[in-house]
Amino acid sequence: MNSPLALLGGEPAIRQPRPHFSWPPITEQSKQAVADQLAESVSIYDRSGVVAELEDALADYFGVRHAVLMSSGTAALHAMYAASLIEPGDEVIVPAYTFFATATPLLHLGAIPVLADCDETGNISVTEVAAKLTPKTAAIVATHMWGIPANLPALRALAQEHHLPLLEDGSHAHGASLGGQRVGGFGQAAAFSMNGPKPLSAGEGGFVLTNDDDTYFRTLMFAHYNKRCRTEIPSSHQLHRFAVTGAGLKFRIHPLAAAFAFEQLSHLDEYLAGRAHIAKLMCDELQELPGIEVPRIPDKHQAAWYGLPLTYVPDELGDVPVERFHQALLAEGLSEVDRPGSTCPLNQLPLFQSPAVLLPHQPEFAQLHYQPGQFPVAELVHRHTLKLPVWHREEDVPLARAYVDGIKKVVEHHHDLKG
Ligand SMILES: *Cc1c(COP(=O)(O)O)cnc(C)c1O
Repeated sequence: MNSPLALLGGEPAIRQPRPHFSWPPITEQSKQAVADQLAESVSIYDRSGVVAELEDALADYFGVRHAVLMSSGTAALHAMYAASLIEPGDEVIVPAYTFFATATPLLHLGAIPVLADCDETGNISVTEVAAKLTPKTAAIVATHMWGIPANLPALRALAQEHHLPLLEDGSHAHGASLGGQRVGGFGQAAAFSMNGPKPLSAGEGGFVLTNDDDTYFRTLMFAHYNKRCRTEIPSSHQLHRFAVTGAGLKFRIHPLAAAFAFEQLSHLDEYLAGRAHIAKLMCDELQELPGIEVPRIPDKHQAAWYGLPLTYVPDELGDVPVERFHQALLAEGLSEVDRPGSTCPLNQLPLFQSPAVLLPHQPEFAQLHYQPGQFPVAELVHRHTLKLPVWHREEDVPLARAYVDGIKKVVEHHHDLKG
């Protein structure tokens, strides 16, 4: 067949060698911050040095009373759930569509992750959450998928009405906001990852935010035994006598990671503003195309643009399957266009279909068997999501435009992909 599409023998739209995107930005200043920390200390046992500086800066940035650093987002979620007094047999409503670590720590507390479907935005549906409430519900959890804020006001109202804690997994959404208020401070607590590609990166790391003193003390008890518990939990507090051992786990961040993240945090708003500019530029052009839907962000909301999730609409493009459309984009040299794999509806993962195989000591799980097909909206959204990176530097605008042009080209020639 004679077609300009690169998949069918034509010239690719982009010839620039890959990768086309890298994160986090590593500058001379970030190298210096790590080198300085290396000279200062590489283990911090208490809340001092860069650990105290970064926790103070995070609490200030997010407008909360307490920030506690952790070794990862997964560890932060684990500590947040334990500190929220999630117990064996409790049901915790979590998004069906999220990264699995939103839910996996619950399995280690013997709690049942009750999956709730998303709406067409990809974020947890408030109606679905309401439909999943039972007398055993112990908390409601929201993830802000790809950095787009979930409907926190409605979730908070629902949680308050049922006297349940609202918890956030903010791992995609550092600095995203609703009506001027940053995500991470809407509920009883929030957990964030600072893993490599996250909007705020430590390389590896995470943190818990809370306004509630007892949640803070229990977070320390679960994840930061000895010095931190001894000095930060008042001796009059009923938990203080456990301070030496805590609950026995240690989820401390590495000081070099904290130093790196502290330097990154000082640029976060500038990076987010750059991303917002480029995301708008891409969305303005892409929304004109048939077959491609861009996320609609309400006026007063700000996304962190961890990614730009496009929705492919095959019936507007002659029912070309998403797999073939994606192949055509890759062939055009748009190597960063991703169909997310491990971030998928949790019912598609073996751990949520048969948790008892890996976690046999939890009797609660013998009856837990999620199956494909149970979360139709999440499964459809996931199937048709094409995720683009969002660059933040002005010098990347031509590349962002080249991605837009590559997508336009494949849309224009989609007839050639049929049959
Ligand atoms: C990355 C991520 C996590 C896990 O964080 P780690 O730092 O990799 O342990 C949890 N939830 C979401 C939504 C994430 O994106």
